[in-house]
Amino acid sequence: MQKVYTKVTDKLDFFQGVDPTELAEKYGTPLYVYNERILRERCRDLKNLVTYPNFVVDYSAKANGNLAFLQIVKSEGLEVDAMSPGEIYVEKMAGFEPHEIFYICNNVSEEEMLYAIKEGVITSVDSLSQLEQYGKLNPGGEVAIRFNPGVGAGHHEKVVTAGKKTKFAVDPEFIPQVKEILKKYNLTLIGINQHIGSLFMTGEAFVKSIGSLLEIAKQFENLKFIDMGGGFGIPYKKEFDEAPLDLKDLGKHIDEALYKFAEEYGSQVTFRIEPGRYISAECSVLLGTVHAVKYNHDKKFVGTDLGFNVLQRPIMYDSYHGIEVFRKSDVKSEKEETVTVVGNICESGDILAKERNLPEIFEKDTLCVLDAGAYGFAMSSNYNNRLRPAEVLIRENNEVVLIRERDNFEDLTRHFIPLK
Ligand SMILES: *Cc1c(COP(=O)(O)O)cnc(C)c1O
Repeated sequence: MQKVYTKVTDKLDFFQGVDPTELAEKYGTPLYVYNERILRERCRDLKNLVTYPNFVVDYSAKANGNLAFLQIVKSEGLEVDAMSPGEIYVEKMAGFEPHEIFYICNNVSEEEMLYAIKEGVITSVDSLSQLEQYGKLNPGGEVAIRFNPGVGAGHHEKVVTAGKKTKFAVDPEFIPQVKEILKKYNLTLIGINQHIGSLFMTGEAFVKSIGSLLEIAKQFENLKFIDMGGGFGIPYKKEFDEAPLDLKDLGKHIDEALYKFAEEYGSQVTFRIEPGRYISAECSVLLGTVHAVKYNHDKKFVGTDLGFNVLQRPIMYDSYHGIEVFRKSDVKSEKEETVTVVGNICESGDILAKERNLPEIFEKDTLCVLDAGAYGFAMSSNYNNRLRPAEVLIRENNEVVLIRERDNFEDLTRHFIPLK
């Protein structure tokens, strides 16, 4: 196997001696590959974010909800949040207790809310109407509310989830109405939460939002927890040495705010965060195979099996993912070229990477898409009746285990009801 362009995975020792071209051959591509050691490191980074003692990291399972993945996260002492009954179901399967699950929902039906109530999972509602609905379903119960701190952040308009333009959360201006509804149904507000958006690379907006959230918190007595949300970014341009989020500096600023609040509030409230991407993105790559190389006019295209059914982020958010190249054959070239890497879906928007400078790529090469573990498999689909990929895990002892099988044709047709 030739390591044609493998700077980042080498530096991380991502494959730990495992040959990615052999993984591609054995399990087929597209293939999501996870590294257990890196996953565990990321969990620990965030567990150690602050020194404030009552601090819980809730992994945001929507970023990557594979069962084995959740089991590892649990073994690191993290708790989880859930966005749907389906996530609650899988999290329980992974061994999380109801009190370790935080259901953060928006615009859900009575049935979905009842599911969480019956499971004993704390629910956060994000509108006055959903608070009413909750009160009717569970009078006398405990509830949390997601507030909009008025500050948003994020890498793309679609993922900014606080501030003036978002559908999420309750505007603090409605606190008097919140209090009325709580009283009307004898509800106890045990926590408040926020989530300002995804993928911030500097902490200013996050720290500012915490300030606003704590001001909101002071308007309620006896809160048990305050959840500061997720959004911790990771550097997607590692091959250009993009700097990671400065957790040490961020942690210091958060710590200051938390200790000060606890002193004023008079109780040791539990603080939580809800990172998704930070924990799951960097411990995974997506392997694909080059099936065609061609020119259209003067543009060179590399045609792969990595369609947007497998990784949606590039077309959904214009996201950048680094690409590395491994080669089984001994074809050699010193050339570097500008190429556009595309998938096999019948849409011209099916572009994984636009105009990248890469070493010359040949048919049968194995491409390795970096930082694919967050919103990768989780957002994959069967579009074009393609099969969702398998997922494998490189364990700490270098053993490779299959943690999800590739879909098969039966999976595609399971729910059809033919006409008689
Ligand atoms: C998506 C989401 C998260 C996780 O966001 P990341 O950017 O992956 O950290 C956390 N909390 C809520 C409510 C979310 O919707």
